[in-house]
Amino acid sequence: MESALDTALGQLRRAVEQLSLSENEWQTLSTPRRILEVAVPLRRDNGSVEMYKGFRVQYSTTRGPSKGGVRFHPDIDMDETVALAMLMTWKCALTNLPYGGAKGGIAVDPSTLSVAENERLTRRYTSEILPIIGPERDIPAPDVGTDARNMAWMLDTYSVNAGFSVPGVVTGKPIVLGGSLGRTSATGDGVAISTREALLVRGINPEGATVAIQGFGKVGYWTAVGLEAMGLKVVAVSDVHGGVTGFKSVADLWNHFTEHGNLDAPGVDRLTNEELLALEVDVLIPAALADAITAHTAPSIKAKIVVEGANAPTTPEGDQILNDKGILVVPDILANAGGVIVSYFEWVQDKQNYFWDAAEVRTNLDSLMMKAIREVEGLSSEKSSTWREAAHMLGVSRVAQAHKLRGLYP
Ligand code: NAD
Repeated sequence: MESALDTALGQLRRAVEQLSLSENEWQTLSTPRRILEVAVPLRRDNGSVEMYKGFRVQYSTTRGPSKGGVRFHPDIDMDETVALAMLMTWKCALTNLPYGGAKGGIAVDPSTLSVAENERLTRRYTSEILPIIGPERDIPAPDVGTDARNMAWMLDTYSVNAGFSVPGVVTGKPIVLGGSLGRTSATGDGVAISTREALLVRGINPEGATVAIQGFGKVGYWTAVGLEAMGLKVVAVSDVHGGVTGFKSVADLWNHFTEHGNLDAPGVDRLTNEELLALEVDVLIPAALADAITAHTAPSIKAKIVVEGANAPTTPEGDQILNDKGILVVPDILANAGGVIVSYFEWVQDKQNYFWDAAEVRTNLDSLMMKAIREVEGLSSEKSSTWREAAHMLGVSRVAQAHKLRGLYP
């Protein structure tokens, strides 16, 4: 299987060709601006010391400070981090946010850490990447394996070093520390909006349309909540241990999950993650990790629409199979952009020290998501391209234009 970086470069190459950009522009766009690998030592609760690898990639700073999540997962490496930082760059440009793109993380399984160990690891990582982050430089946010609590520790570590409180250094932080209303659900809200609009484009009534969601974390759960509120029927969800159908409601399943840590609520039927992908539903939403839809799993997909809640959940071979089957794919850089959009709102509120109510956040999220969806749909019709190609063309062309206007120093 191609690496995540090869896939991302392949998508960029295609956009560069479709936009008729020059070889020089390809060189600039395909090169990350800044890469940092750090050693992160952790003193375990038993007194022993372990070393972990930490990463931060600032793929682009051309359109503004770089922006991107921090992932704690044992499998992350530099190549994947570069690929995800590149996707963030096109995503921020696609949604017209004044940001470049970044990504970072630590190769660690957070479930093996106590809360105190997680805090020490987060703080040490923050102090190692401290010289290159900041509200005007690079603004981290939660991703797989991290949440608002990690952001609070990052904010505190940065602020203690600065000598004053710097809430704008991270987004996705707790509300009392300068977080934004609506940030927790924002990625899922955006996925839900994308799903509704894709159904309408395909002439399917969202009311009662059926959905299967792979992943029941921050993105998968809030997507399910948002879709239920819009009248869709979430018929199956899964986590790393497999999936379930036959639950009463998403709220019911979530209550069981938070109490027992598993999806085995009374009355559910179990299915494997592969069976979930192959369900006869209107919409399939991969909202877990990369490479869920592959040459192996794509042939059995029966959904009419795939909405990518996760980043890079579809391999190029999987993508080709979905396209050949006539399945509409709403690409990651569009579908899951709600998170970075509300992160942007959070940063704006922090800069102004003036905080919006939930309705204002939601109205502005709707507006930016709808604008991006309409632009992608319009360009894809105009160019007879897939939505993924259209989204990349829009994002890449804006970054290329910004490069051109800024010129080359010195
Ligand atoms: P999370 O850690 O909160 O949840 C991940 C979920 O995926 C969990 O339910 C986990 O059990 C499940 N999972 C892990 N491996 C799996 C497997 N092999 N099969 C099925 N399920 C599996 O992470 P998240 O924040 O929800 O992120 C999910 C995806 O969405 C990632 O690709 C992330 O980069 C992307 N994303 C997240 C945000 C955000 O705001 N959190 C924004 C944009 C994109």
